[in-house]
Amino acid sequence: MKVSSAYVYTVELRFHEPFRIALGTSVVSRNVVVRLVSEEGLEGWGEGSPSRRILGETFEGAVGDACRLASELVSMDEVDAEQLYSIGMEGGYSPSAVAAVDMALLDLKGRLAGLPLYRLLGGYRGRLETDVTIGIMEPEEMAERAAKYVEAGFRILKLKLGEDPERDIERVRLVRDAVGEGVKIRVDANQGWTVEQAIRVIDRIASYDVELVEQPVRWDDLAGLARVRKESPVPIAADESAKTPSDVVKLADHEAVDIVNIKLMKSRGIWGALKVAAVCEAHGIENMIGCMGESRLGITAGVHAALALRNIVYYDLDSDILLAEDIVEEGGARLEGCVRSVPEEPGLGIRRINVGMLREVAAYGEKR
Ligand code: MG
Repeated sequence: MKVSSAYVYTVELRFHEPFRIALGTSVVSRNVVVRLVSEEGLEGWGEGSPSRRILGETFEGAVGDACRLASELVSMDEVDAEQLYSIGMEGGYSPSAVAAVDMALLDLKGRLAGLPLYRLLGGYRGRLETDVTIGIMEPEEMAERAAKYVEAGFRILKLKLGEDPERDIERVRLVRDAVGEGVKIRVDANQGWTVEQAIRVIDRIASYDVELVEQPVRWDDLAGLARVRKESPVPIAADESAKTPSDVVKLADHEAVDIVNIKLMKSRGIWGALKVAAVCEAHGIENMIGCMGESRLGITAGVHAALALRNIVYYDLDSDILLAEDIVEEGGARLEGCVRSVPEEPGLGIRRINVGMLREVAAYGEKR
């Protein structure tokens, strides 16, 4: 595949309301968007949502890296996803910048092949049920929000915890009261508890039928995570502790987790996600797929990855639901109630991006 021109843009998208997790609060998502044009004149789009708190990235660094990658791609005679992955790893590029370019490249590849990307990559399932995330708020507010989401058709809720052990228990209790049985509740502490706190909180919230607990303790405390898992009646998932395939091997060596949350922003895109999923599958670890602050562009790529791979069985593809604005105008991932699917169209299946919302940073190659 030859990329004849490449464009890098930035966009700032507001959340419906400030989104608070144990690591901090977000009001807007500042993302980098990449458009690649093949020599046949086909277009591929990708998006990166850099994360300072989880990946140590800066927005400016990610934009600069996306520009460098875009410029390198147009100088190459041939480029494909594994080559991009290799450049990304060896050059130490910002993972979300690599992810943005990877999505655009695979979108192009699907268009060239005339296949929806998920079919090109494995085509395991046709639809999935996503959760919706409720940020940290007062326990009563979270219960109210939970009831509203259930009314809107969601059947899985992800509660952000990790602020204070006693109040966290209260949050889960009130949410379960508000939604009744038949709704799944999963929780994410974003490293907010100590090992002792985690063991105590999980023991208490297990009685409210919690499906899984994500990242209860610090990302680098694998022995602590293993202790929590040993004591926990609920499956334990790693997010911040699992960024690369080699992180998964370490987690497996420690017998620290049941589930690894894949995010395209951590794995350097869909191609890297295939590697993380394969390593997890080999170790008997299931996958969740999550997101950072992507619009429906990045989420569409996540849905394709999730539809393609058997080992991804938990879905947390909801940042576009939490954002008040979006750059995808037509096509891309659908949401009906809590069910997500993609159009049976080539590549990502995105028909139109609202280019007016984007700020062009750089253009490389032949002008089109
Ligand atoms: Mg998480």
